[in-house]
Amino acid sequence: MYPWAMLETRLEPEIRAVRLEGAALAETLREGVRGAAAAIAAVDAPPRLRVFLVGEDPASRAYVASKARAAKECGIAAETVELPSGTPREALLAAVGEANRDARVDGILVQLPLPTPELTRRIFEALDPAKDVDGLHPENVGLLHQGRPRFVPCTPAGILALLDHHGIALAGRRAAVIGRSEIVGKPLAALLTARDATVTLCHSKTRDLPAVCREADLVVAAIGKAGLITAEWVREGAAVVDVGINRFERLEDMPENLRVSARLRRALQEKGRVFVGDVDFDDVARVAGWITPVPGGVGPLTVAMLLQNTVQAARSRREAG
Ligand code: NDP
Repeated sequence: MYPWAMLETRLEPEIRAVRLEGAALAETLREGVRGAAAAIAAVDAPPRLRVFLVGEDPASRAYVASKARAAKECGIAAETVELPSGTPREALLAAVGEANRDARVDGILVQLPLPTPELTRRIFEALDPAKDVDGLHPENVGLLHQGRPRFVPCTPAGILALLDHHGIALAGRRAAVIGRSEIVGKPLAALLTARDATVTLCHSKTRDLPAVCREADLVVAAIGKAGLITAEWVREGAAVVDVGINRFERLEDMPENLRVSARLRRALQEKGRVFVGDVDFDDVARVAGWITPVPGGVGPLTVAMLLQNTVQAARSRREAG
C-alpha cells in the first residue's frame, strides 16, 4: 500500500518539468509533407503508402488507421492490407513482394509486432530497401549505423526532432535508452551516438537499471511497462522521453504507483480507458527538466516521420526513374 503522505503529493503533483509536446511540431512537419506531396502530385501520381496489418490486435488496428488517416490528410495515397493472424508466412511474404514490384507504391510499412521474431526478420529482409520507410531492411540498418541513413526509423527520428526543437543538447551528454527493439531502442542508440552522446543501451537483463538512469542527462523509455520509471530513477533536470504506450480500462489493472494519480482516475472515469507511458509522469515531472506526455508526446511525431519518409521515398524513386 502507498503511504498516505505520498498519496497526498501524488494527488496534487508539482510539475516542474517542461512538457515536450509533440502535436504542434508534428503539425509543422505535416505542413511540409503536404507541400512536398502536392509538388509531386502536380507532375506525377501522388506518393503512395501501403500498410500491412497482420492479425486483430486492436492497438495495432488503431495505429494503422491513424497513420492512413494522417497520410490521406497530407495528400499521400494510403492503402491498408489486412491479413488475418493465421496468414501463412509465404502468403505474407508474397504480399510484400507484390508491393515491392508495384511501381505505384512508394512506401511499405508492416505494422509491428508480428506473430514471431523469425517472421519479423524474414519480413524485414523481404522489403525493397528503397520503399522501406521505417528503415528496417538490413541494408538500411547498416547505412544508419554507418552514419549515412537512407530512412531513419520513424520513432527515433521523431524523438530527435522533438529534442532538437526544444534545444536539448546531446553532444557530450549521457543518454540511457531503455529497450533494445529494432524499431526504437537500437536505432535511437545509433543516432544518439552519431550526435556525440554517450549512450547506454539498457534492457531486461541490465543490472541496477535505476542507477544507470540516474547517471543520465537523457532517459528514453521504450519498454512497454506502465509507469516503471519513477522519480528515484531520474537525475534532477534530466530530459525524459517516454515512448511506451500502455492502455488500461480498469483502475485495478494499473500498477499501484499510477492508480493513485487523480489525473489518471479522472481520465479513466471520463473516457472508460486511459493511455499511460513507461514513465510515471506525475512523479517524474517533479524532478525532470523536460518530459514527454503520453499521449501527445512521441506518438504524433512517429506518424509525421512516416509521412516524411514516404515523401522522401517517392522523390528518390522518381529521381531514379
Ligand atoms: P519491444 O516490445 O520490442 O521490446 C521491449 C524492450 O524493453 C526489450 O528490449 C526488453 O528487453 C525491454 N524491457 C522489458 N522489460 C524491461 C524491464 N523491466 N527493464 C528493462 N528493460 C525491459 O519494444 P518496442 O520498442 O517495440 O515497444 C516499446 C514500447 O513502446 C511499447 O509500449 C510500444 O507500444 C511503444 N511504442 C510506441 C511508439 C510511439 O510512436 N510512441 C512506437 C513504437 C513502440 P529484452 O530485450 O531484454 O527483452
